[in-house]
Amino acid sequence: MYKTKLLSLIIFIGFTLSTNLTGANNILMPDNGLAQKSPISNLKKSTTNLPDRYILEFNEINPKLIKIEAHITLQDSLLKMSNSGPMPNRWPQYIQNLGVYSKNGKQINLEKRDSTAWKVDNMHKGHEITIRYNVLLEHENQNWPGGIDGVAFVRDWGIMASGRSLFIINGDFKTNIHVVVKKPDTWKVSTPWKSEDKWNTEYIVPNQIQLLESLIFAGTHEEVEIVRDEFSLKFVLGGNLIVKNKEHYVTAANKILDYYINLMGGIPKPGPGDELTNVLVMINQSKEIDGEVIGNNISLFLNPEADPQQQIIGWFLFAHEFFHLWNGKSLRFNDTSSDWFKEGITSYYTLKALHNAKLVDEEVIKMVLNQLFYNRYINDSGFGSLAPSEAASGFDKDNHWGLVYGGGMFAGICIDMEIRNNTKNSNSLDDLMRYFYKQTAGKNALIGNQDILTQANLFGRTNFTEFMNTYIKGTHEIPLKKYLEFAGINVSTDNKQLQLIHDSNKTNFQQKLWFGFLGLN
Ligand SMILES: [Zn+2]
Repeated sequence: MYKTKLLSLIIFIGFTLSTNLTGANNILMPDNGLAQKSPISNLKKSTTNLPDRYILEFNEINPKLIKIEAHITLQDSLLKMSNSGPMPNRWPQYIQNLGVYSKNGKQINLEKRDSTAWKVDNMHKGHEITIRYNVLLEHENQNWPGGIDGVAFVRDWGIMASGRSLFIINGDFKTNIHVVVKKPDTWKVSTPWKSEDKWNTEYIVPNQIQLLESLIFAGTHEEVEIVRDEFSLKFVLGGNLIVKNKEHYVTAANKILDYYINLMGGIPKPGPGDELTNVLVMINQSKEIDGEVIGNNISLFLNPEADPQQQIIGWFLFAHEFFHLWNGKSLRFNDTSSDWFKEGITSYYTLKALHNAKLVDEEVIKMVLNQLFYNRYINDSGFGSLAPSEAASGFDKDNHWGLVYGGGMFAGICIDMEIRNNTKNSNSLDDLMRYFYKQTAGKNALIGNQDILTQANLFGRTNFTEFMNTYIKGTHEIPLKKYLEFAGINVSTDNKQLQLIHDSNKTNFQQKLWFGFLGLN
């Protein structure tokens, strides 16, 4: 059980951008919505031994080589690397000169157990060992299925290494892991962890998942921290052109963050025992545009010289994953039958947030709705035979992106429009989100389709039962036309293209609903 949860937590999301949004259709991969269940509840099993301690040494002369020393109290005799990512057995390929030593300095034999683990000879639970090894950051010499952005790379302005690429761990339930960073004086280090000292050289990492699912940047980059209450969003900006556009990125991120906080009524609040106060977002200059999410952290490649429309993909990924801190981690769901809500509603609010931050205009929203969401919805292999609420079970989410993400978003749009129309725009889907946040965030409560239905009915003063049964639990095409008419929009789906055209005689009320659609309320 634990294994499965761990795996689902660390399935990565990656996409590579071709030259336009149409190209992105095929490659914007489904993510796991930043899985909600962490093994934190298992932490009571942790021992009272000394916490594990890692010392990382970055070197200016040879930036591709990171020296690591770790002091570990064994929980079993296995040393292992992350088993996540598309190519987990590649992580140890970059480990050099791994040596294991007992407390008195004697070298201990090590045998390769399998592609991601080693077995320490004659050492047992409770024994303290020291391990020393080098990580050679030559990961870019191979192709990685999700791109290099979430793996490890070296640039003129610094070194990016994922926790997966760096750490050899032992046991399953280690907590309060110490990480010490040694670096050249002129460098800084950015991590998602809390630092223990004002020089930012020593960190305490809550658990092994947060150790492995982290991204570290060391170099001459810029870091900007955006703080709201206890929540900290650290921005890493690397590369001349990115740093030059710093104001643009930071302003946009501030606006997106504030939009979400205002919408939901507070900062992210994960379930009991979980922690969600530090998020690292790194933006590195690159020719290609790409992005990957590791744990709560995001690595983006942006090209400030690219067509603005291309850059939207990077922002879309950031804003979508970022909203999962609320819809997915603060609001948590019973099972995958609500993934249409988790993914679809998240994408709906992603567009609203981007519009609020003035990163996309109405035309771009319409284009994304058609080229990304409608296209994949209508062409989904399960369209007409598989219900969006069932399309995400097991491994189906990967195969039915269109039904879960597209169908979910369109269902959300209809529900929002119906609530607004029925209540003279005094209520909306926003109220439902805020209600769930207030009632469930930070608690053990999980949300299911019945809760969504009940609250949508209450806020909309209507009955969505038939809508739910026909379009979410059923397989009929979601009738966007009917519901967008409330906002004075004529919907056409001729030739499988979704076109939204403003009614030339639209009323003020209809226009208000359209502003609501855009997140302007
Ligand atoms: Zn998602």
